[in-house]
Amino acid sequence: MTMARKALMISPELCIGCRGCQTACKEWNRLSVIKTRNTGTYENPPDLTPNLYNRIRFVEMPSETNLVRWLFVSQRCMHCDDAGCMKICPAPGALFKTKEGAVSFNKDKCIGCKLCVVGCPFNIPRYDDKDKVSKCHLCSDRIAEGLMPACAKTCPTGAIRYGDRDSLIDGAKKIGYEKVYGEKDLGGLGAIYVFKDAPKIYGIDEHPAIPETVVFWHKVLKPLAYLSLGGAVAVSLLHYVAFGPKKDEGGEEK
Ligand code: SF4
Ligand code: SF4
Ligand code: SF4
Repeated sequence: MTMARKALMISPELCIGCRGCQTACKEWNRLSVIKTRNTGTYENPPDLTPNLYNRIRFVEMPSETNLVRWLFVSQRCMHCDDAGCMKICPAPGALFKTKEGAVSFNKDKCIGCKLCVVGCPFNIPRYDDKDKVSKCHLCSDRIAEGLMPACAKTCPTGAIRYGDRDSLIDGAKKIGYEKVYGEKDLGGLGAIYVFKDAPKIYGIDEHPAIPETVVFWHKVLKPLAYLSLGGAVAVSLLHYVAFGPKKDEGGEEK
């Protein structure tokens, strides 16, 4: 029997910016803190890091009734069905899908090439101090045991909910949302959103797409690499195309 695909439904309109989900994620995954500084906003930290899988982005909008209108949204791996990170990854098993549809990772198999950064349309993967991939894995250890992800378990307002993907989408439509962000994009996302404002206001791409170079690599070069060229040579070539020539400390190309 195949398992119904699971998902997180994120409703920014219900989010109060408490960052309980950020903290719960760090606690469950034993991610250490990093020192940050005030940049003139309550948003903290300012970006995802190898020790921060889920971040609440604070968006400040002008308001007619108050000084400012705050919008909050969770930024994290979208658990794409058609995942650009997996398409480009040359290391078998470093990134993998769970039976619930999460895109998880195995640091022991990651070779630190950072190509998944190029393949991801949402700028999600980060690398730890050992050059190993790091990102939200949908609490794959919890959901395998029938528990909900730590962020969804903690959220006090229902702004992050976990469940059967189809039921979450049906439920959102029943309460009046015409469109669910991620319903069809990239084969269907595993982190789906309902927005009252345009996604781009929250810093989320309206039409995410995998870069053409990644599609070409996946369809043509990757099979060739495994068949004939030799993985290391092909990966080096792709790395050169993606990141350019290696530079020494003085900035001179090598
Ligand atoms: S959001 Fe990026 S890292 Fe997450 S599954 Fe999609 S392509 Fe991979
Ligand atoms: S699903 Fe788990 S790993 Fe992903 S953001 Fe939520 S708490 Fe963190
Ligand atoms: S726990 Fe819920 S309400 Fe609090 S910041 Fe996270 S998503 Fe928003």
